[in-house]
Amino acid sequence: MQISNRISAVCESGSLKMAARCQEMRRQGVDVVSMTLGEPDFAAPEHVKQAAIKAVADDWSHYGPVPGYPSLREAIAGTLGGRYQANEIMVSTGAKQVIYNAIMVTINKGEEVVIPTPCWVSYMEIVKLAEGVPVTVPTTAETNWKVTAEQLEAALNERTKMVMLCSPNNPTGSVYSRAELEALITILERFPDVWILSDEIYQHINYIREVVSLADFENIRERLILVNGISKAYAMTGYRIGWMATKSRDLWQAYNRLQGQSTTCACTVAQKAAEAAYLASQDCVEQMRLAFEKRRDLIMELVREWPDVTCTCPEGAFYIFPDVSAYYPRLAKRLGSVSAASREMTEYLLNEAHVACVAGADFGEDRCIRLSYATDESTIREAMKRIAEALKRI
Ligand code: PLP
Repeated sequence: MQISNRISAVCESGSLKMAARCQEMRRQGVDVVSMTLGEPDFAAPEHVKQAAIKAVADDWSHYGPVPGYPSLREAIAGTLGGRYQANEIMVSTGAKQVIYNAIMVTINKGEEVVIPTPCWVSYMEIVKLAEGVPVTVPTTAETNWKVTAEQLEAALNERTKMVMLCSPNNPTGSVYSRAELEALITILERFPDVWILSDEIYQHINYIREVVSLADFENIRERLILVNGISKAYAMTGYRIGWMATKSRDLWQAYNRLQGQSTTCACTVAQKAAEAAYLASQDCVEQMRLAFEKRRDLIMELVREWPDVTCTCPEGAFYIFPDVSAYYPRLAKRLGSVSAASREMTEYLLNEAHVACVAGADFGEDRCIRLSYATDESTIREAMKRIAEALKRI
């Protein structure tokens, strides 16, 4: 019996694979410190939990409308400063499904999707599932891992169907300024038929107090696919609620049709909890943001002590993405192999330091590794100490 060619071409998620290995080692009694996870370590806010419990008690247990409850979509629209109406919003099972659905309903076989790298592991694989062609645009630490207008211009052509942007970025933590976005938009104005998907899932976890949303730019709003959700800002990853905002009726209806034939709607209890998250005080978001900022400062202080490693300072999200490539030739020698790169490095750190992190290769940048600091300060200190010692032994 054979599985489809479609799924055979898709890679397993590197971060989920590493997290699974970490759990397996722990089961065997090894004291592994995990820096892999892309989720806040905090519990969901108390009022959100209560809203979920109430939703169960009040029997929100039937199928909901395909696009999401109108009350939740009103609440989401309320966060968007009057730019979108509730009927321009679609609620799905996490931002991941939003991106999946949006790509499925826009990309035809052979059409190109421009993706600046390093980028979140799933973008390229979802494009491949839609039989589209991911066109990666490698960025460097010199531009703080941000794509420049020149690079974007060089990547666009008549086959381009979509450009995907993510700010704050996973894995680099980079945040585009208004001027940088304006420069990109100036280029995109010459390609009016290209969709712009803006993944803003880390919008509220930032250390500059203001993340500019692509929804701010009126001249691209007709073709903007705005993606966000509750996973990161409210520590509600397991509730699985994400959403899209779009001005395109065609896109909205196509998405509605796809969701209606696949998942029907997002979990109704989780939708009620998400509504509570958006409507209640946002103090919990700020408290978690402050905690992440402290951890960001701590981990940056510690990573600067690693010899021969460079690391840009993240302005958002909860990852650092240090360049550890100076160690690769020595690591290859130590391993007795011809060459070594980020996968060998993460394997080495797992086996030698018992610290799990994710290979940069999984994000399209082999010189780096990704460490999540969505964990408590003592875990951060322990992981960074273990890695520093293991690097010295290379
Ligand atoms: N976009 C980025 C950049 C992410 O890092 C993640 C999760 O790690 C997602 C989207 C998916 O978020 P959700 O948990 O809402 O599906």
